[in-house]
Amino acid sequence: MIRQFELVDLVKSYDPNADEAVLDRAYVFAMKVHGNQKRASGDPYFLHPLEVAGILTEYKLDAATIVTALLHDTIEDTLATQEEIDKLFGKEVGRLVDGVTKLTRIEMQSDHAKQAENFRKLLLAMSDDIRVLLVKLADRLHNMRTLHFIKSEDKRLRIAMETMEIYAPLAERIGMQEMKNELEDLAFAQTNPEARRSIMARLEFLREEGGDLVSRIKKELTKTLSKAGLKVEIRGREKLPFSIWRKMQHKDVAFEQLSDIMAFRILVGSVEDCYHALGIIHSTYRVAPGRFKDYISTAKPNGYRSLHTGVLGPEQHRIEIQIRSHEMHDIAENGVAAHWTYKQKAGKTEGRQYRWIRELLDILDHATSPDEFLEHTKLEMYQDQVFCFTPRGDLINMPQGATPVDFAYAVHSEVGDRCVGAKVNGRMIPLRKELRNGDQVEILTSKVQTPSPTWERFVVTGKARARIRRFVHSQEREQYQQLGRAILQRAFREEGYEYTDKALSGVLKVFNQGSTDDLASQVGAGHLHARDIVEAVFPGSKKKRDQNVIPLTKAKPKAGKGSSKNAIPIKGLIAGMAVHYAGCCHPLPGDRIVGIITTGKGVTIHTIDCDTLETYADTPERWLDVSWQQQTETPDVYVGRVHLTVVNEPGVLGTLSMVIGKNGGNISNLKIINRSQEFYDLLIDIEVENLKHLTEIIAALRATPAIDMVERARG
Ligand code: MN
Repeated sequence: MIRQFELVDLVKSYDPNADEAVLDRAYVFAMKVHGNQKRASGDPYFLHPLEVAGILTEYKLDAATIVTALLHDTIEDTLATQEEIDKLFGKEVGRLVDGVTKLTRIEMQSDHAKQAENFRKLLLAMSDDIRVLLVKLADRLHNMRTLHFIKSEDKRLRIAMETMEIYAPLAERIGMQEMKNELEDLAFAQTNPEARRSIMARLEFLREEGGDLVSRIKKELTKTLSKAGLKVEIRGREKLPFSIWRKMQHKDVAFEQLSDIMAFRILVGSVEDCYHALGIIHSTYRVAPGRFKDYISTAKPNGYRSLHTGVLGPEQHRIEIQIRSHEMHDIAENGVAAHWTYKQKAGKTEGRQYRWIRELLDILDHATSPDEFLEHTKLEMYQDQVFCFTPRGDLINMPQGATPVDFAYAVHSEVGDRCVGAKVNGRMIPLRKELRNGDQVEILTSKVQTPSPTWERFVVTGKARARIRRFVHSQEREQYQQLGRAILQRAFREEGYEYTDKALSGVLKVFNQGSTDDLASQVGAGHLHARDIVEAVFPGSKKKRDQNVIPLTKAKPKAGKGSSKNAIPIKGLIAGMAVHYAGCCHPLPGDRIVGIITTGKGVTIHTIDCDTLETYADTPERWLDVSWQQQTETPDVYVGRVHLTVVNEPGVLGTLSMVIGKNGGNISNLKIINRSQEFYDLLIDIEVENLKHLTEIIAALRATPAIDMVERARG
């Protein structure tokens, strides 16, 4: 706690003419009226106005401002009245206290929708005297420093957002850079604690790694400039986490080493010295293109003046350098407050009307949406994210629960596909381990590695999952190719031809395929029929094709049509209608069946227990009572579908096709529907003569050790 005489001494140290008696009176008065009020921290309330006054002495503000700081909460929070203040402390202080009280009241009704309007009122209130705003900012700064004592998270968050959106930009606007940085960083700790922690962890890591890099750079810069006869003071300082964060967000920059987040300031005596120092820096070190800015010849609107440049400096570190005079520096740090004291010293009576406040009000009055005005400073919320770094310092943000595999894919798809291990903060960790904020992640890769289907179980990012799936699919494609070639070989052989890839290349265009591999995989996946391909290669060779669609030549006289020779083995059909065998249940001779009339498609035959039939429950007029004819002597070919679970081991597909082939079946399609480390789940379409034939094949498959389960696929 700053004691009474200490405060007076502080003010007198920079303002010898300050009215000691008023300061004493304000100190005692505030302490008395706040009495035993307590802050959320449990401290006596009086400590708060005292701290606010203390902050303002750092800016060397006049006694009236310090007195206002001591009294700033008395009207709102104690029994003290405006008349009392006016009487005890005079008109000037009375007006200032009134201004701050008004601002506090605006703050109280800080409904988000009204924010722009509140901002306007705030500007109005402070346009009378900028010291009102200075007290308010110091008040906010102390409240932010003690924000963690407030229990309600909602309240903390609201205050933090308001600080970020209104007070920090205001501090910046009046050139109080240092205050702005601290306000933002304190707010950042509330609005995005995870991101802030990750940045601090990164800083920690770099500090350990870099040693006394900063002092080495400072030393070399000093030496370089002193040799040229310049008297310089060099300051190297880390940026605050929020400044780093925003830089990374907006400019997409990484921080690889401590020097990336260091601002080196070269303070010299005069404007001439600034340009002299710049010349030496630029002729000694390599200049980073596009980084030089001259804010001395053209000051920023808030009065900021400096030269900025970026060079590849000592030890080949990229560094940012600001060159300015001591006076420029004071204004850069303290902004309006500095102007104010400089002007006071010069004995000028200043109107204290700040044109920019008027201009700001004007913009606000004419903006189409006042919200727009505030929008750019708003912080996005990244509460459920985790932030990690590459060894080069690039920031990678991912959802909570992300693993090194997610990280690897976020860096680059290739890195993901080839990752074999990960080092986090220099230590090996398993690929499935969750990453934490601030981790520096190094992915180890191998050229022979491919994505593992098991990764899919623990990755959380869409990109990683999509890539892993894509790879698994391409592996399936390879299997389809093998299978397609096997099916084609068989189809060719059946027609008495020898299969060659060359034969296929002539018909690729017919089937709209780019390569023989594509064509084979289409056959393997069942999208193309082997027999169609044989027919295309050797036109006219087709004997019995299109087992799925059978032209109807004869039907029972149900609809009163004449009868001719029955080419298809189904009773109860209408002449001239096409017949399809349903793809859902694959009916076979021997199954009990039903026909469904489908507009434009003829009749579809389903097994009587097919689930699809439920769809037609409401349209009995479409049902046809059909049954199989007696088998003819030249049996036709039907497709039966079976579902298998087989052990995932080499050669199992070969065994499978051998068992089916031995029993007179022919695989026309195969689809892997599921694949785990131990098992495959497959759907196989087998060309058979009838139900009995399929049942025999199923029995044979059941007797095969590598096959865990076989059943007829239904629905
Ligand atoms: Mn206060």
